Amino acid sequence: MDQQKICFIGAGNMTRSIISGLVHSGYPAQLIQATNPSQGKLDALKADLGILVSQDNLAAAQAADVIVLSVKPQLMQQVCEALQTVDMSQKLVITIAAGIKAKRYTDYLAQDIKLIRAMPNTPMQISVGMTGLYAPQAISTEQKAICDRLMSSGGEIVWVNEESELDQVIALSGSSPAYFFLLMESMIDAGKEMGMDEDKARTLVQQAALGAAMMAKQNPQLTLGNLRENVTSKGGTTAQALATFEAADMRGLVKKAMENCIKRAEEMA
Ligand code: NAD
Repeated sequence: MDQQKICFIGAGNMTRSIISGLVHSGYPAQLIQATNPSQGKLDALKADLGILVSQDNLAAAQAADVIVLSVKPQLMQQVCEALQTVDMSQKLVITIAAGIKAKRYTDYLAQDIKLIRAMPNTPMQISVGMTGLYAPQAISTEQKAICDRLMSSGGEIVWVNEESELDQVIALSGSSPAYFFLLMESMIDAGKEMGMDEDKARTLVQQAALGAAMMAKQNPQLTLGNLRENVTSKGGTTAQALATFEAADMRGLVKKAMENCIKRAEEMA
């Protein structure tokens, strides 16, 4: 599969993460092209990753076997409409934009397309990303394998069966690195207020977060509840902290935040 010419329309942060994973996993850089109106951004990508770059979306899309649409959702219609003259009958189109439903791309591009929606997250930058994938219609095994190769070079992938599940993917993994950063920030701020040096507080918190995530991942036979109980002695310090979270209905707050995240994704659809 590493013969496919892949073109990324809208080379921004997420594209850089995906391409970086691809190149570092051995995909030939000369088969990857990225477009952006900013020559500065393109020069930086070329220098860092050795890929081809262009300011010409149309020419880049025409030359590609796989087109990855990665501009911001609000620009997607305009960018796609400018690609309507590209014959996409033999191409695979992958979009990473949040919210926009698959059927809208058929309208934007004014033709039937083989499309996969992908919902990655920023930890792809360091190869521990999580991407949810959805194909609205039967796509070939080969096309599915291309998409698997593309997105799994930056982390793990999960295929979902219903398009609505992609909004849940946004709430669960697309946006959630920011929830964890907020929790970590809050803990570091509290530590500082209690007199801890900021750098030390950060080291303590980020290593605890990493340790917790790795324990969860390495012990799939245990529920997260089991893991939590294992570090919580009755009447101890952890129990006191957890009771404070529960009393403030942390679970309800998290649910509300995720529902609002999904609501926003639906509004963007
Ligand atoms: P970004 O702003 O970093 O990248 C988009 C790039 O598109 C910019 O560099 C911009 O200059 C470029 N661009 C603008 N107009 C263009 C045009 N006409 N032709 C070509 N390029 C053009 O944004 P991002 O964070 O990389 O997000 C890109 C997409 O990824 C969005 O649709 C977003 O919904 C999706 N996404 C982002 C995340 C995330 O965590 N950042 C997660 C999942 C999905």
